[in-house]
Amino acid sequence: MKALDYSLAAAKASELARVLEAVFSRSPIGVAVIDADGYFRQINPAYCALYGYTEQEMIGRSFTMVFPEDRRELTLKRHQRFLFEGAELRGEFDVVRRDGSHLSVITESVRLPGEDGRPLRLVYVVDITERRRAEDALRQSEQVYRTLFETVPQGVVYHGLDGRVLRANPAAQRILGRTLDELQGRAHGSRGWNVIRPDGSPLPEAERPAWRTLKTGEPVRGEQMGIVVPGRGVTWIEVTTIPVLQDGRLFEVYACFEDVTDRLALSRELAKRASTDFLTGLANRRSLSEHLLFQWEQTRCHDEHRCAVLSVDIDFFKHVNDSHGHAVGDQVLKAVAAIMTGQVRSSDLVCRHGGEEFMLVLPDARLEDAVALAERLRATVESHTIRVDGTELAVTISIGVSTVSVRDTAPELVLARADDALYDAKRAGRNRVSVRDVARG
Ligand code: GH3
Ligand code: MG
Ligand code: MG
Repeated sequence: MKALDYSLAAAKASELARVLEAVFSRSPIGVAVIDADGYFRQINPAYCALYGYTEQEMIGRSFTMVFPEDRRELTLKRHQRFLFEGAELRGEFDVVRRDGSHLSVITESVRLPGEDGRPLRLVYVVDITERRRAEDALRQSEQVYRTLFETVPQGVVYHGLDGRVLRANPAAQRILGRTLDELQGRAHGSRGWNVIRPDGSPLPEAERPAWRTLKTGEPVRGEQMGIVVPGRGVTWIEVTTIPVLQDGRLFEVYACFEDVTDRLALSRELAKRASTDFLTGLANRRSLSEHLLFQWEQTRCHDEHRCAVLSVDIDFFKHVNDSHGHAVGDQVLKAVAAIMTGQVRSSDLVCRHGGEEFMLVLPDARLEDAVALAERLRATVESHTIRVDGTELAVTISIGVSTVSVRDTAPELVLARADDALYDAKRAGRNRVSVRDVARG
């Protein structure tokens, strides 16, 4: 009976040994047995493959061969402290393959009793170089992203699917004049954004770029809107919103915006300067051309459309300059401009056409309306005393009147006709109104 037990136990043991041998030789994990002096006793194919050596090249050599030269002594010491003093020996190591390339590995060690009474170390090695590399790349790109997020001058805000602000960078907080808590709706007074369109009308929440992207999943690019920032008035921003997808589904909305308040103010100022006469603040020749072109086109397209033009010139203006100086002349020009502006409707255009010459474009005015206005202008200027630095001056103006005709092949023709009428008035003695209309030739 006893003999049978032994042979059964021996059979089991040899079967276990075969299984272990199979696991050892086929394991994808590198396994090595290292003796107390640090020499390889046994290594499996995965271990050899990991380091790029053959089994013959490794067996009998010190395991420190796979470590960088300057780490070898220390590594052997740690090996022995593990075996004889019970110190820890696990973690991540930088090792060197036969071809000189470096690997990151993690190891796990087990102490085994050796036949000669001296302990052995069984070590498992897993190559984590690729994982490390991927982690490093991820860390690096996260760092780059974070630096960008924190330092770009553009505001960046992420909205969740319910429209709430999830994240907002410092520039967004600065541009919108709100703290992160306020932006995220956590602080008092954070509700109710007042947003306006470029024309000043309110922009309802559902029409704002982030909401549209949330609703449609489509980006909205370069849209301008004004945000009423508490204590700072309106800040104009140019917004782009982009859907952020995860597994093909809308996940968040990325909004990026720039403060364009100064840029818009500058371009408005430039546009105003480009169309305004510097001295009088009236429209200049350039805006006259634009207005007149529009009126001329309207007249050609719509039978009922009317538009009259007045050509105005100050009489004997040279005298003013000669007797009182150019600076006083300038003040007179401004005063006459102001008188005319005060007499016309808001839809009428008063323009400084040249030195002391003005043109008025009067939409919806029939000839008789225009003549009546011209007479009123003439009389008002005549009766007005202009005071400049204690000097009292009186000037008169002459006016030529005409209307835009469907027969005019170019808008400038009506200006020429009004000018001709003006010279009629000058020839007839000045301080008067003359008319030249198409019907009258
Ligand atoms: P008329 O009744 O025929 O129109 O005589 P006038 O003296 O008004 O006409 P003229 O064309 O001989 O002179 C116009 C003057 O307007 C000459 C010019 O020095 C002056 N002038 C033109 N532009 C300006 C300006 O910007 N400021 C001033 N102070 N004078 C100007
Ligand atoms: Mg003149
Ligand atoms: Mg003149």
